[in-house]
Amino acid sequence: MRKKIVAGNWKMNTSFKEAITLIEEIKKSTIPNGIELIVNPPFVYCQPLVQLLKSSTIKLGAQNCSEHQSGAFTGEVAAAMLQSIGVTYVIIGHSERRSFFNEPDETIAKKINQAIHSELCPIFCCGEQLSEREANNHFEIVKTQLENGLFHLSETDFKKVIIAYEPVWAIGTGITATSDQAQEMHQFIRTLVSKHYTHEIADNCSILYGGSCNASNAKELFSKPDVDGGLIGGASLKAADFIAIAHSF
Ligand code: PEP
Repeated sequence: MRKKIVAGNWKMNTSFKEAITLIEEIKKSTIPNGIELIVNPPFVYCQPLVQLLKSSTIKLGAQNCSEHQSGAFTGEVAAAMLQSIGVTYVIIGHSERRSFFNEPDETIAKKINQAIHSELCPIFCCGEQLSEREANNHFEIVKTQLENGLFHLSETDFKKVIIAYEPVWAIGTGITATSDQAQEMHQFIRTLVSKHYTHEIADNCSILYGGSCNASNAKELFSKPDVDGGLIGGASLKAADFIAIAHSF
């Protein structure tokens, strides 16, 4: 049975004090049984937050990692470094990385390899731009992102991956994909996984929806059979909203 997951992507937000308050509030809340709750703060807060979450079931993820293992890469953070401080997940291929930092699929594939090599669980993001959907190219775009960034993995390694479908036009815009649009793409992704790997692997693969998912629309989105949870940006910065989303299954 695949995991139900709610992951918060804090992006480049919160002061350290605010980060601690947010974590304390999330920790105090009742987390529904069987839901994997993940917070992805900025790098610099990872280690102190890992400590704060030691006695909790909440998991910690990073928002990125280097495509390199180690060495002269000023400013970069290696997957192995994250793993060594207790980080368990890492977001890879977020659309903001793809567009603002010019990360092509090849770089994303290397980051996936680093994450797997360091025993981090990658949250692989894919999704089309508005113009690509308008041109009816959205399935082809997502297929290419998966083929180039993820499908080189062996069956054993692919089983460690979570996929997040995030239509770029829905991220931070307040325009959420309809639950039917999300379901249609999630089903398409699961079918691709099934073709590249096995039916069983596809059935066990968690596919999250991301893009203006909030406490008001999560229930409708999560009611769809192939939507296994959400990758949440803005709404993950308020503990009450984030927890309400976790209660939306
Ligand atoms: C995201 O950045 O991954 C995201 C889904 O953002 P938002 O929820 O704010 O649209």
